Amino acid sequence: MPKISSKLPNVGTTIFTQMSQLAIEHDAINLAQGFPNFDCDRRLQDLLNRATRNKHNQYAPMSGVPALREVIKDKIQNCSQVAVDVDAEITITSGATQAIFSTILALVRQGDEVIVIDPAYDSYKPAITLAGGIVKAYTLRRPDFKVDWDEYKSLVTDKTRLLIVNTPHNPTGTVMTKPDWEALYQCIADRDILVLSDEVYEHIIFEGNHHSVLEHKGLRDRAISVSSFGKTLHCTGWKVGYAVASSKITAEIRKVHQFTTFSVHTPSQYAIAQYIDHPSVYENLALMYRRKRDLLQEALSDSRLRIYDSQGTFFMLCDYSELSDADDVTYTQQLVKECGVATIPLSVFHTHPYDEKLIRLCFAKTDEVLLTAADRLCKL
Ligand code: PMP
Ligand code: GLN
Repeated sequence: MPKISSKLPNVGTTIFTQMSQLAIEHDAINLAQGFPNFDCDRRLQDLLNRATRNKHNQYAPMSGVPALREVIKDKIQNCSQVAVDVDAEITITSGATQAIFSTILALVRQGDEVIVIDPAYDSYKPAITLAGGIVKAYTLRRPDFKVDWDEYKSLVTDKTRLLIVNTPHNPTGTVMTKPDWEALYQCIADRDILVLSDEVYEHIIFEGNHHSVLEHKGLRDRAISVSSFGKTLHCTGWKVGYAVASSKITAEIRKVHQFTTFSVHTPSQYAIAQYIDHPSVYENLALMYRRKRDLLQEALSDSRLRIYDSQGTFFMLCDYSELSDADDVTYTQQLVKECGVATIPLSVFHTHPYDEKLIRLCFAKTDEVLLTAADRLCKL
């Protein structure tokens, strides 16, 4: 047996896979992994069928099907009032995960520092490590989980190459406001630093509007925004997303993209292009999820969990310190087994030790499932 020296010695199976597996084993309600338990629209399914029958079954262009890039351009114009070049600035990727991975691999070199905001989505740090970069973590704190930009700025050094931001933020549900973007810009205005903005929950925002990094004039040329149709159209299994960046940055991302996957599933791209032709498809999303957030929050009001307000995404945080002294990983395992509800422990999203007794609940579930889960949690 050859000796295998792992390039990612500290990485195991993701917490989402682990908790979903545990939920199946214990026949528990899965409020852990972030995916809807309801189906995507029948019309979208029919469009996919039609695309395969219409012979859209061979390789798509490396950068994505032109019709899809065209509707994305219109969507960005409509939502953010920003003009993007269809050919030079939009790349369709295999979910947001691959957009993030290709971006980090393309832009981060050995020894470059990358600032992430903890709790951070789990795919950022392994990608930084594989690129030879160094993770610098800024930790969000209660009660509002907002960035203190003066403190954040102290992490910026001559070695900083990339900042990674996520708005609306998984798992805290906080959002970047216009002043936040300006404050971030002021941290790096006089330096050669790029900004990767993970905006997969851009249409799931409950207070105010989503502000894309692309809207900030100073950041536009140094920004990469990443989106996911999985979140927007309830089809996480299709794995179609995209990255938008200036032509120079896009050219670098595509150098990696073309050798990670080359191109993305063709019929899905045609189906989505036809489906999102009308803004109503994504405009009603926030209302639907706001109602679900309120339903779960209200149903949990008699529980001993302390709920934090979620301004966006389909997640909310809960403090369980009234219920247990156990660390969050142990507690979530107990919850699956003893209460029949799977959740996500917050510590796994942190670089530094974190024992804050917080768990994440996903409310992208049918009302019935949310109410049953809440009923179980209220009995604790
Ligand atoms: N970023 C964040 C913040 C996410 O929550 C997710 C997963 N839902 C992704 C990226 C990955 O998205 P995709 O499933 O499109 O790869
Ligand atoms: N993004 C989803 C979440 O935060 C999970 C995606 C995955 O399982 N990789 O729960």
